[in-house]
Amino acid sequence: MRGETTINTARPARPAKNPINWPMTLFMFSFHVGAVLAIFNFSWPALGTAVLLWWITGSLGIGIGYHRLLTHRGFKTPKYVEYFLTFCGALALEGGPIAWVATHRLHHANVERDGDPHSPRRGFWWSHMGWIVNGQSDHREVESKTSHVPDLAKDTFHLWISRWNFIPQIFLFAILYWVGGWPFVLWGICVRVVFSWHATCFVNSAAHVWGSRRFETNDDSRNNWWVALMTFGEGWHNNHHAHPASVRHGLAWYEIDINWIGIRALEKLGLATRLRLAGMPKRGESPDRDESLNEAA
Ligand SMILES: [Zn+2]
Ligand SMILES: [Zn+2]
Repeated sequence: MRGETTINTARPARPAKNPINWPMTLFMFSFHVGAVLAIFNFSWPALGTAVLLWWITGSLGIGIGYHRLLTHRGFKTPKYVEYFLTFCGALALEGGPIAWVATHRLHHANVERDGDPHSPRRGFWWSHMGWIVNGQSDHREVESKTSHVPDLAKDTFHLWISRWNFIPQIFLFAILYWVGGWPFVLWGICVRVVFSWHATCFVNSAAHVWGSRRFETNDDSRNNWWVALMTFGEGWHNNHHAHPASVRHGLAWYEIDINWIGIRALEKLGLATRLRLAGMPKRGESPDRDESLNEAA
């Protein structure tokens, strides 16, 4: 059941030219500087604010919203819930939903081959952040990406927030500064955003390099416990590549999956229906695989 080798042995070539994307690099560097300054502006309420916002943006926004709902359509939800989760995702500063979802659908469709935006077979740094700072990725750039997300591209809200995804952050900045001054801003925005950036990027890098493999998928995906802890369950990445549309990534009892618990809570509230689920393979049974990406694909 466990396999260390994969059939797909492609090694995608790097684009010939990799100029540094200076606006993106300086933008990300400034947040790292802010995260260092936060060490000298510590307070427990500021840390608590960062943790609360980390859950709102990382779990509700990225894990449940951008990934399990918008990318893979693992469950149905009313439009206002979809928009709320997307709004939380935009607050993570990982770009708007159109670019994020298009990038991730390309990852699944071309995994570890040419066309995979961030395969570690091009090098660990490339898969972690090199593809952002040295690549062509621009999460405000909408037009070229809409063909991969026809379901989002016809929605006015998703188009708007994809272009203006940094605007909610400006309002959050004002609220945090008003409530708690610079410590709240540095912890609630800089530390929280930088931590979430690396957490999400570790799914693309570490969870394709280190960890165990339950399913012999045609890629290098791994189940990585520490990436799962940083991402509310997204680190059970080999389970996910085997069952992309499943809303449940942690299949064993010890595979803690906070995002799955969140979707179950939405279901109990009547806000999530038609959940698509993968189960643990039974003893002696070969694991079933459903590599369809989403209902739209
Ligand atoms: Zn992956
Ligand atoms: Zn996915």
